[in-house]
Amino acid sequence: MKRTAVFPGSFDPFTIGHEGIVRRALCLFDEIIIAVGANALKKSYYSLETRKEMIASVFKDEPRIKVDHYEGLTVDYCRRMGAEYLLRGLRTAADFEFERAIAQVNRTLEPTVESVFLLTVPEHTSINSTIVRDIIRSGGDASRFVPAAIDLREYRGEDL
Ligand code: ADP
Repeated sequence: MKRTAVFPGSFDPFTIGHEGIVRRALCLFDEIIIAVGANALKKSYYSLETRKEMIASVFKDEPRIKVDHYEGLTVDYCRRMGAEYLLRGLRTAADFEFERAIAQVNRTLEPTVESVFLLTVPEHTSINSTIVRDIIRSGGDASRFVPAAIDLREYRGEDL
């Protein structure tokens, strides 16, 4: 059976940390769906369409990676997509505690979906979307923190 994993997140914006996790996970799964969580209550800097477009440009030559978005519970989305794995990245002990709670609750909600964690490479540990966003908003050069395929000058964020 095809092994499909969902990699859910806000990706506001997608960083080289996210890219690293997805590329390394390609040897574990047949297909990875990068799913942008659309939360009407949570404001994002980049619009949903922009975030999806940025991610799609990174993986345009990788047919095993799909880009999508979803609303509602992540495990419900996994079930709808026939995905049995939920992929997440871990940077720090704080990430671990946060992810542990979510994964254990997700297992209770949907025991057929297995959460899989990859530890980030050391050079990506300090990269997070909040910091990258702050650099962009303040007019700094954040290009080294996002995948090479993403030209940040092509995208406009929204003033929050
Ligand atoms: P969320 O809003 O769900 O936390 P993020 O976009 O911040 O979404 O992150 C999505 C996933 O990518 C999470 O599993 C997160 O731990 C992981 N991640 C974020 N930044 C990095 C990084 N620099 N290295 C590895 N994994 C990362």
